[in-house]
Amino acid sequence: MENYIKSRSRPSWDEYFLLLASVISLRSIDGETQVGALVVDKHKRIISTGYNGFPPGFPDDDLPNLRPHKYPFMVHAETNAIISCRQNLEEASLFCTLSPCENCAKIIITAGIKNVTFSAYYESWSVTEDLFLRAGVKFKHIPVSPLTKFSPWLDSLSHSK
Ligand SMILES: [Zn+2]
Repeated sequence: MENYIKSRSRPSWDEYFLLLASVISLRSIDGETQVGALVVDKHKRIISTGYNGFPPGFPDDDLPNLRPHKYPFMVHAETNAIISCRQNLEEASLFCTLSPCENCAKIIITAGIKNVTFSAYYESWSVTEDLFLRAGVKFKHIPVSPLTKFSPWLDSLSHSK
């Protein structure tokens, strides 16, 4: 009997959550770097999502979304995902399209998140790596974006109806 799932490679859990983070990043209004993040509990249930953008109520059209003028206004994806969460984040995992900056790293550590997975390196990774090592946060870099790996299959979805 034909097995549909076996006809393509099924995403691993890490790939699945990074794929979703890529989709979440589509909502970002940042003019240069669209970042998506999500938080997952220890049972692999998604408990929060976030993307980089202005604080709620700030008009998207009236503020700068390019460097360096965006910096005072932009809230990072990881911070948004953590702030939006309404439950305890002890033992939770965070998935992000980009490695967290040092400010988000401190928020991740303070929130009690113990695992971070990302698909690309942000420029200040060495500072974040030092913070994570000191705090015992495990991190994983998956270099090939799952969006690239699964894009042929995602393309086929749009033709299947
Ligand atoms: Zn950040």
